[in-house]
Amino acid sequence: MRPSLVVANWKMNGSGDFLRDYVERLELDQPIGIDVVLCPPSIYLADLARVVRGTGVVCGAQDVGIQPVGAHTGEIAAEMIAEVGADWVIVGHSERRIDQNEKDDLVATKAAAALRAGLKPIICVGETLAEREAGHEIAVVERQLEAVVDRVDLEGLACGAIAYEPVWAIGSGMTATAEQAQAMHAFIRDKIAHLDVEIARKVRVVYGGSINPENAEELFGQDDIDGGLVGGAGLDPVQFAHIVYSATS
Ligand code: PEP
Repeated sequence: MRPSLVVANWKMNGSGDFLRDYVERLELDQPIGIDVVLCPPSIYLADLARVVRGTGVVCGAQDVGIQPVGAHTGEIAAEMIAEVGADWVIVGHSERRIDQNEKDDLVATKAAAALRAGLKPIICVGETLAEREAGHEIAVVERQLEAVVDRVDLEGLACGAIAYEPVWAIGSGMTATAEQAQAMHAFIRDKIAHLDVEIARKVRVVYGGSINPENAEELFGQDDIDGGLVGGAGLDPVQFAHIVYSATS
């Protein structure tokens, strides 16, 4: 399948000025032909949604609360994220699994909360370096994936994406080789196909981990890599546009 989804995760970066300047300099031809998603810190979502309107680019959140609207101080409900104009939400990013101690079960609940509000979840899975060196990468990703497929409606999963993000490749400049990434993506798709072949065909399995304009084309050329989740290079609109074009060519 040709790549069809590229997402920029700005992490805890950005400002009102940054997002306006970014969108002005993004320069993607219309129609873009694939889904392009910008994920700023949630406080900038409403602003960014206004700025990207009509550009063909959409936006998403980096996390979501699990409860519906109510007495949950500091949380942001999926319904609120949808209301301000976002379409997507990242769940289970390894930085949250590590910094906030988010477990598989919570990640699955977040994916279900996103779907309840009509948001498309980008569900992150991936092993640490120690887990890969111990030969446990498949078992780890399988466990993370099973927690989600056991909880969410599979039709919902098909409209979202699974992001394979080996933890050791995030922000490290150490990209997985195209072969390593393809092998894990094929495993993920095969695992979903055991539940539903049609859902496995539809769900986008995207790669994340030090994607840059130089390595994007080779990664996106792999059979089971349907796009990318981009951190560092996604903070520069020129580099990000280059990566988007690698997915469309
Ligand atoms: C990420 O934040 O999801 C990510 C993949 O970051 P980077 O591209 O910087 O490795």
